[in-house]
Amino acid sequence: MKTVTRSTCCYCGVGCGVLVEAEDGRITGIAGDPDHPANFGRLCTKGRSLPLTVQSMTGRVLHPEIRTARGAKREAADWTSALDLVAQRFAQVIEQHGPDAVAFYISGQLLTEDYYVFNKLAKGLVKTNNIDTNSRLCMSSAVTGYKKAFGADGPPTCYEDLELAQTVLFAGSNMAYAHPVLFRRLEEAKAANPDVRWIVVDPRRTDMAAMADLHLAIQPGTDVALFNGMLHHLIWEGLLDRAYIDAHTVGFDALKALVREYPPRVAADICGIEEHALMQAAEWFGASPAALSLYCMGLNQSSHGTDKNLALINLHLAARQLGKPGAGPFSLTGQPNAMGGREVGGMATMLAAHRDIGNAEHRAELEALWGVSGLSDRPGLPAVEMFEAVRNGKIKAVWIACTNPVHSMPDIARVREALARAEFVVVQEAFAQTDTVPYADVLLPAASWGEKSGTVTNSERRISRVQAAVDAPGEAKPDWWIVNEVARRIEARLSSMSTLFPFDSPQAVFDEHRALTVGRDLDIGGLSYATLEAQGPQQWPFAAGAAHGQARRYADGTFATGDGRARFHATPYLPVAESVDARYPFRLVTGRLRDQWHGMSRTGRVGALFAHAPEPALTMHRTDAARRGLKDGDLVTVASRRGALVLPLQVSDDVASGTVFAPMHWNGQFLNSGGINETTVPAVDPHSAQPELKHAAVRVQAA
Ligand code: SF4
Repeated sequence: MKTVTRSTCCYCGVGCGVLVEAEDGRITGIAGDPDHPANFGRLCTKGRSLPLTVQSMTGRVLHPEIRTARGAKREAADWTSALDLVAQRFAQVIEQHGPDAVAFYISGQLLTEDYYVFNKLAKGLVKTNNIDTNSRLCMSSAVTGYKKAFGADGPPTCYEDLELAQTVLFAGSNMAYAHPVLFRRLEEAKAANPDVRWIVVDPRRTDMAAMADLHLAIQPGTDVALFNGMLHHLIWEGLLDRAYIDAHTVGFDALKALVREYPPRVAADICGIEEHALMQAAEWFGASPAALSLYCMGLNQSSHGTDKNLALINLHLAARQLGKPGAGPFSLTGQPNAMGGREVGGMATMLAAHRDIGNAEHRAELEALWGVSGLSDRPGLPAVEMFEAVRNGKIKAVWIACTNPVHSMPDIARVREALARAEFVVVQEAFAQTDTVPYADVLLPAASWGEKSGTVTNSERRISRVQAAVDAPGEAKPDWWIVNEVARRIEARLSSMSTLFPFDSPQAVFDEHRALTVGRDLDIGGLSYATLEAQGPQQWPFAAGAAHGQARRYADGTFATGDGRARFHATPYLPVAESVDARYPFRLVTGRLRDQWHGMSRTGRVGALFAHAPEPALTMHRTDAARRGLKDGDLVTVASRRGALVLPLQVSDDVASGTVFAPMHWNGQFLNSGGINETTVPAVDPHSAQPELKHAAVRVQAA
């Protein structure tokens, strides 16, 4: 029998709606959902090829597997044995070494319901905040930026603003490749209105930069100097909204004093661009009826990512470019459900429904809602510190779900070392060939896209229903179910109670999650599965009694801070964590390609997606290549202080002399190394703990 099921694409944070066609238990086709407000029927090449990633069971994890000793081969096991073993080993470590001796490392690709149960297990039952996620590598600097400036996480903008903006500033975002369906919307808006201006800030001349009205090819990591210089020029030109600053913000005078040190010539010199180009960008931004900035990993994946976010938000506040149609700072979520994960508090530095670990009132609220006591007030360890604690033996058991840290973390040699030293490693995965799977003592087969049900939240705070179109193959199970089963067993061992995990469906999980949001900034007390199915995807907040979600936030100039005022932050420019020198003279920047997604565990299964870029390459400017006697196609060794890999060389003028570029996707499944993160730096932002995956000092020589 043929069926058509409404769901979403599982790749990027655009969150496109899809209609999944299935027949006789197999997914046979896909179409964009014409009624979904993210994509109105459109899909990019990755989304269109999704059925091809699930049609073959080759490479899927189909049964639980257990190994009895390190070095032994994992053997197939039944679910009861696997769940019992995970619960027994975790409970044993907790009893012997305390709750902070275990950790959970999960994923922005889990559904909100999966995330919720993981978070409740860690924080509500085990009483550790050692639960972090690959979203730490993705959006955490955007989160700290929003919280520091506006008092709460989440963008103030919505997708409608793409069509309403008059000036669009892209900063650290190759949106044409990373968020292609939204980029199409922008292209159409620009084609319909020739007065729309695009400013692209990117060290590389990407396809998008080539289409821009102004391309600012700044030196990697100099974004704060650029934004400070632009603010200096806005002040000089009187392009501020002084009444708005006085009525709705705090801290402008300190910022003004700081940006005196960034006149356009000084800022432009730091950035390596022309002074007049910086001034032009400031004037277009400040004088525009509606200026929208779109930003992503280029700002976030930095040892000063929070400062970069704040310096950009400073511009929006000073020129009142937010809280009105077509304007605002808009962080583009990398992963499909990084936002949903934050809503349930599934990170080491937050509690459920945007509550704070360090806030006793918030902990008490959550204790009352969950019916527990003694929530930990110790912040958990964020991703880089978490694996370091595994490496040095403080964390003894780690459970990794739906992510591949032995490819995506910086300086992956350390992560390999950590997992080899851990006493007990659980990996919950759909795909058998990731770089992390070999480290699993217990491998748990997870359902994948098209096979499970729940909700996700996209970049504009819009919650969509995700529906299973087919059953999961073999013995694979939905992630929430697996965690719920282990949690019940741990609960029985630790407390002989069994009340915290009564869930028998994703809907039961969602209903508990939404109850926790009531009265909070992200209140979805009025939203149920039934509402989502009847009215379609909705933005939060959506409180009880609301007819619809809220498109824009802070339109009345009242922010989520204690006094209702937004905060300016004086952000001095600071250099990248690792400077180039005579031994490592190139600035390595990393990024995405159009048709691959993250570590390729899914897109790497589709031959057609290699047509755009059949292999990874290191891009180098022709003068640098000529100076080294290298030519296009030569194999070169890219080496940093931490590791090295061999890649073919691609000679191009798209990068500046002194900078090289490598894609992030290829890994141990395809290469004789773990990929470009063999070389990257584990330095993290002091506020967000997000690592500087975007920049490292490297040398390049013939292989
Ligand atoms: Fe999927 Fe993102 Fe492409 Fe939409 S834009 S189809 S969500 S990968």
